[in-house]
Amino acid sequence: MPRRAQRRAADENSRPRRAQRRKPAESAAGDESAARLGPPEVQEWPDGDWIVRHVPAAAATKLYRCPGCNQELRPGTAHVVVWRADAQGAEGRRHWHNACWQRRPRRPGPQARSR
Ligand SMILES: [Zn+2]
Repeated sequence: MPRRAQRRAADENSRPRRAQRRKPAESAAGDESAARLGPPEVQEWPDGDWIVRHVPAAAATKLYRCPGCNQELRPGTAHVVVWRADAQGAEGRRHWHNACWQRRPRRPGPQARSR
């Protein structure tokens, strides 16, 4: 007798149903900004792994400076926020224009100085 199959069936019965737990998304004001960003995505680059999240225009509410072109990233501009995969916390986060981030392999890395 396949005992394993029996046990799995029992597990399923005792498991609480996920569908019944619905979070009231509208009232979770604290999570709002995080919820509006895209999911974190790990990208491999020659200088290591980076976490990239897409920031839709509606979530871009501050002025940033893009490290790729050194120009302003204006509020309401869809862009990406990136940080090193091994970084802890929000300190090393950088906001980039989408295009600048994509062009990055052709440029020197953030640490490389021209002189
Ligand atoms: Zn830029």
